[in-house]
Amino acid sequence: MTLDDCRRLDAEDPLAALRDRFMLPEGVIYLDGNSLGVLPKTAPARIAEVVAKEWGEGLIRSWNSAGWFDLPQRLGDKVARLVGAAPGEVVCTDSTSINLYKVLFAALSQVLLATPDASPQRRVVLSERSNFPTDLYIAESICRERGFTLRLIEADELPAALDQQVAVLMLTHVNYRTGAMHDMKAVTAAAHAVGALTVWDLAHSAGAVPVALNDSEADFAIGCGYKYLNGGPGAPAFVWVHTRHAGQFTQPLSGWWGHAAPFEFTPHYRPAPGVARYLCGTQPIIALAGLECGLDSVLAAEPFDAGQGPMAALRAKSLALTDTFITLVEQRCAGRFALVTPREHARRGSQVCLALNDGGPGAYAMVQALIARGVIGDFRAGDAQMPDILRFGFTPLYLGFEDVWNAVEHLVQVLDREEWKRPEFNQKLAVT
Ligand SMILES: *Cc1c(COP(=O)(O)O)cnc(C)c1O
Repeated sequence: MTLDDCRRLDAEDPLAALRDRFMLPEGVIYLDGNSLGVLPKTAPARIAEVVAKEWGEGLIRSWNSAGWFDLPQRLGDKVARLVGAAPGEVVCTDSTSINLYKVLFAALSQVLLATPDASPQRRVVLSERSNFPTDLYIAESICRERGFTLRLIEADELPAALDQQVAVLMLTHVNYRTGAMHDMKAVTAAAHAVGALTVWDLAHSAGAVPVALNDSEADFAIGCGYKYLNGGPGAPAFVWVHTRHAGQFTQPLSGWWGHAAPFEFTPHYRPAPGVARYLCGTQPIIALAGLECGLDSVLAAEPFDAGQGPMAALRAKSLALTDTFITLVEQRCAGRFALVTPREHARRGSQVCLALNDGGPGAYAMVQALIARGVIGDFRAGDAQMPDILRFGFTPLYLGFEDVWNAVEHLVQVLDREEWKRPEFNQKLAVT
């Protein structure tokens, strides 16, 4: 594969013009959209308008006149288009961690109601050891509160680890470390076959890969607004609940925004019908305005899907970008790295992770040396069971194939010149 091949792929890329919708700093190749998406050009003016006009002039009237009150639902409908859900099934609110607390608690309430005796039956929450830590921490706390056990397994132990004790299977669809993707439909079916509910975290899926929540018959899902959805740092997250559950169970954070009639100010809680009950308190309107710009930046790819289903165009380019990166790393950094991310398309998210073949400690410093050259990826520390990794996210909205070529060229130079051995690249920063 040559630089000319990459330029040809760029010339043939139907999504190439979407890059103009983003503010990308000069000299940066951004391979971290899986951690914090880039700024859509519309966002600064839109956020300024919300502040100066809707807040400054409209004041409290804007809850009605500017549509503030319905924002979680209106944005939820946009998310729904990206995750295989229907209008009215998603709300944008709170953080991923908090939404996970809500849905996992609701799912376990359902199980407790179905198996009220404190029998050992169905008292396990099953997840992956390499799941994102906040998911495991939240699950650990809920399990402790509600008398469940959190059982952690490796991905390849599924579906064998599913048994009658499992109340909820809680998985992240695309693993944040490895980029490995589960088959949502097959895994959900396997969970349902033993009577377990599923909670899917879509943090690395929404806006990154096609997701079919309803088609998969999934039960609960949550996801992140600031990664592939480009909603801005700490943007509100989202929550989806299958309609067969949405009106059935209450979530524990029963704030007034999830009330059936919040402005009746009654002393007792009555949950709103459907997913609206997953709202808690007053929503962060300025942050939601930023998220809407991000969602629109992703939905701008919709016209290119050509009847192939949501996310079809983005997915095709994402796979072509990650294929290109893998090919070039293997071609040009021969033997230095092992590919951690699955090669098989059906099992790959929109990122590529590399581990050092020599088992040495250089991964962190290599990422730092790349960042100094304007190639921004990130590092994730390993432990006894997982290697340190260099992680590169590929966002087809604003990355081209020549960017991939250049990123690998920088990596080759970091290695050849042993730049990563410099002391300044070996000092750990607070946020990695
Ligand atoms: C990024 C990420 C989160 C982030 O949760 P916050 O509440 O936004 O900090 C949660 N889960 C997974 C799987 C993630 O990748």
